Order: sequence, then structure tokens, then C-alpha cells
Amino acid sequence: MNIPMVDLKRQYSELKNEIDEGILQALADTKFILGPAVKKFEEDASKYLGVKHAIGVASGTDALHLALAAADIGSGDEVITTPFTFIATAEAISYVGAKPIFVDINHDTFNLDLDKVEQAITNKTKAIIPVHLFGQPVDMPKLSTLCDSYNLTIVEDCAQSFGASIDSRQTGSFGDFGAFSFFPSKNLGCYGDGGLISTSSDKKAEKIRFLRNHGMSKPYHHTMLGFNSRLDELQAVILNIKLLHIDSYNKNRRQVAKTYNELLQDTSVQTPIADDIGVHVYHQFTCLHPKRDLIIQVLKDSNIACAIYYPIPLHLQSIYRKAGPDINLPNSELAASQCFSLPIYPELDEDKIGHITDVIKKALA
Ligand SMILES: *Cc1c(COP(=O)(O)O)cnc(C)c1O
Repeated sequence: MNIPMVDLKRQYSELKNEIDEGILQALADTKFILGPAVKKFEEDASKYLGVKHAIGVASGTDALHLALAAADIGSGDEVITTPFTFIATAEAISYVGAKPIFVDINHDTFNLDLDKVEQAITNKTKAIIPVHLFGQPVDMPKLSTLCDSYNLTIVEDCAQSFGASIDSRQTGSFGDFGAFSFFPSKNLGCYGDGGLISTSSDKKAEKIRFLRNHGMSKPYHHTMLGFNSRLDELQAVILNIKLLHIDSYNKNRRQVAKTYNELLQDTSVQTPIADDIGVHVYHQFTCLHPKRDLIIQVLKDSNIACAIYYPIPLHLQSIYRKAGPDINLPNSELAASQCFSLPIYPELDEDKIGHITDVIKKALA
């Protein structure tokens, strides 16, 4: 049995008729740049997310970058974020010329430790990027209260959390901005690169629409330095179809996580700890174990995929290390040294989960 991290072929085969038909229609219509599918996706995503505006951009990285640019974050500013995330979170801060300030994570949830954020705030701090890592919502009501009192902009990194919520409010609707990625393996994934920015500010939304399209306020009138960062029409066709299924995909992911938890409960594997803050969408099922390298090897020998998200926390990456003295962020470092992510996708059935957990149990016996 060969088990991948995600089974995109299986998902495509279930949606093939609709997707093929939609793509062929878009090819026939030839409205390739900011066409009707992008418009529909922006409308439907803003309704789904409960925000006034959703603006399609070229990637999740661009979504973070353009949100920071729209908030006028730049040179001399500090932006607080987590070191236990994908590099793009910090890259976006560097792109606008600001400095990422890494604050340690909570050992259990892998999310930014909100009790440590306040002591990292200086008079240069302008924004914070909480990451809803692996699909688990950060405590946004708590963070919003803190940021209000210091007048900080919040850009939620929702690359892994499409559909996650707190008290029926979607991630991406709490902060000034939400930044989403539709990289193929994300919970809501397209067939290439794609991203989205959510905001409820009319002014910021207008600015982001200019920024993603060469700073054009009207054709060939460039009022600001912009970018070429539009959501692709063909990707939007796919997203319009998959958006209708996202709640059921996320529900299945929660079921997969529940089954893993039951089957691994009497082992020494530390399975993900979900706090009771919101609804987790399990973009990843990330565990901890001191013998993680052994577990990964045994899984590999059994043709079961396994990944390390993330092996080196960002404060220890060479590009950020040389920016200042070394800092210690023990929870992030421990997580990086012991974490391993097991296959998780909506179509993963109980037989396969049983097989995966049996292999792990044998390895640890
Ligand atoms: C995937 C990801 C991104 C970047 O998204 P792209 O669409 O690949 O640019 C940013 N942040 C996090 C946490 C991610 O997982």
C-alpha cells in the first residue's frame, strides 16, 4: 500500500466532469485576466468568510506581502510573528523592508504564545502576523484586544486555515487582513499558485486592487508602485468548484484526525493538542516524538509518506540568523526537532489510517 501526504488525483477524479467543463468554458470565453470566474470567486469567498472584500492574488506569499504593503508597513518597522511556520510568513515582512520579530510558540498548540507577544512590542512595532498553523485557529479575540491597545495592524496568515472558525466567525475575518493560499496541497487548493486577501476596509480593499494590478487606478494611470499579482482565471474556475466542497473536506479531515487520535492514544506519540478556542481544520496532523527519525524511516520503508513541517525554525535560518544575535525560542526549537506530519486528506479512509498507525506502533515496540 502506497500512501501519499495528499491524494490530489483522487480528488480530481471525483470532480473531473465539472472541472473539465469549467476549464473548457473559460478557454472558449478567453477572458483570461480578472475574468468572470475570478469575480465570482471573490464574491463567494467574501460571503463564505464573512468579510466585505475578498481580493484574488497570485499566491499566499503575495497575499501576505500586499496586505503589509496596503497597511503601509515598511522600512524601520517591526512585525511580530512566529518562527514555526513556512518561510513565506517572514519573507513578506522582509519584502516591505520591515523586520520580523520572532516570538516563541505555545508548546501544545504550535501557535504563537500570546502571553509572550506583549513583551516583544516596542515603539517600532506596527503589525503582527499570527499563523493559524496546521489549521488550528489562534485565539483571535484575545490577540485583537491586545493589538487594539497598541494600535497594531493584524494580518492573519490563513494559508492553512481556510474554513477554520472561532464562534462561527471565520479565520481571516478577525484581523485587518486575512491572507490565504491556494497552493495545490492546501485545504482549499487550486492547480497551480493562487491566493486571496480578505478585509472589511473599503479603502484598503481598493488599494490592494490597485497594488495587485500594476498600481493602476484606471487603465494606464499608475498612482502607486504596484505588482503583477492577479489570481489566474483558470485557477478561479477550479476554486469555484472546490469552494462548494470545502466544509465537507474539512469535516472529513477532522474525522481522520479523530481516528488517528484514537489509534495512537496508548502510544508514546504526542498527537496534536487541540485547544477549545475554535474549530480546527487539520491542514496537517503533526505529532511529536523524540524518535521521530526512526518513525519516518519505518514509514518510508512501508511506502507511507511523512513530512517534517518544519525542521528549522525561522530564527535559526541563515537569512535571519545573520540579522542579529542568536535568540533562543525553546518551544519552537523543540517542536522542530521532534515534529513529523502524517498523511491527512479528506479521502483518507480508516483502513489506511489503521495501517499507518500499525506501522508506527511496530516501530516503537
Ligand atoms: C503555504 C503557506 C504560505 C505561502 O503560500 P503560497 O501560496 O505557497 O505562496 C504562507 N504561509 C503559510 C503558513 C503557508 O503554509
